[in-house]
Amino acid sequence: MKIDNLVLLKGVLDMRITNVECRLYRVPPTIVLQDSIQRIPAWEWLITTVETDAGFKGTGWSYTLGMGGSAIRELINSYLTPVVVGHDPHDVERIWTRCWQELHANGSGGFTTLAIAPIDIALYDILAQAANVPLYQLMGGYRDSIPAYGSGINLHLDGDPLLEHMEGYLARGFHAVKMKVGRDNPEEDVERVRSVRKLIGPQNKLLLDANQKWTPGEAVRCASMLEPFDIFWLEEPILADDVPGHARIRNTVHTSIAAGETLFTRYQFADYIRAGALDVVQADIPRVGGFTEWLKIAKLAESNNLPVSPHFAMELSVHALCAVPGGLVLEDVQGGSLTELGLLEEPFTVQNGVATPPNRPGHGIVFNQSALAKYEVHGQVTGVVPTRV
Ligand SMILES: [Mg+2]
Repeated sequence: MKIDNLVLLKGVLDMRITNVECRLYRVPPTIVLQDSIQRIPAWEWLITTVETDAGFKGTGWSYTLGMGGSAIRELINSYLTPVVVGHDPHDVERIWTRCWQELHANGSGGFTTLAIAPIDIALYDILAQAANVPLYQLMGGYRDSIPAYGSGINLHLDGDPLLEHMEGYLARGFHAVKMKVGRDNPEEDVERVRSVRKLIGPQNKLLLDANQKWTPGEAVRCASMLEPFDIFWLEEPILADDVPGHARIRNTVHTSIAAGETLFTRYQFADYIRAGALDVVQADIPRVGGFTEWLKIAKLAESNNLPVSPHFAMELSVHALCAVPGGLVLEDVQGGSLTELGLLEEPFTVQNGVATPPNRPGHGIVFNQSALAKYEVHGQVTGVVPTRV
């Protein structure tokens, strides 16, 4: 049975949420991950189970780059669970808004939305299971697969190690690759980008990510220096909070500007779009509070004729990208997939540069509980290492 929207589903199956439980896992990276502003000492995964009285159980998750995971766990378990239990999972808008209102005085995005996201994602998982369709079909079903790009957190690499890294993506069938820029000396970025462009040839796409390193003036200068290498997009050239700065860069250089991984609400995206400050909308599903908010941002982008290309979390992003017309390309971060971290029962990987959502009801991602167990943090987090370089 395929049911086309949530309105139809409601009433077909009466169910209530009976329990929410979030667990925190700190997982060491499998490779060195460094960009222009940070080094990732640990992935933090906030994996959350939502149970219903109809037998359906949903799984959602947020993540951090090593900071704040226990705060998110407490927000979910102590503060949001009582808000959510008893509701019908079909009422995703009501549940999302109630959660957001409860936490709003602490900030409209960030920890607030990172805490809402696992619940929201788990609810969508439940609804797609109940409808017996893969999640992307429940959310719109625009396409059945999406091209992906290989994404390297590799500012520390140059010379042969950088080329070997990029060659690895081509060998796996990718036709688009992303590398980090933002060295203190921009000439080093130029040399690194020049060598990668030469390696991948003109037929493959090259994306650059500066991770908010520059001032607007520096960004204009560096983007102009990198322009000759046919850059598909330049990502986060400056501080994400600086909307007019992004607009200035976008109006000055000829390279497309991608941004959004460090934005947390649809209002922030609306500000960017109104200011003409970006070309590619990179809303991150966990960071914006899950699919309910992400779909609104995707519609906002679509209404302004802008493509969406969500940041990270490819096991979720693949469903989002396949759901909506404006889906551009999936990010496959080397060292950042749940499969590479050994956390899944069945691998989910990009095949020949194309990603296809699991063909089973829900999002189809099943965590390996015994693999996770050794990473769980039960009480206070200890051994924290600062992430900023
Ligand atoms: Mg980025």
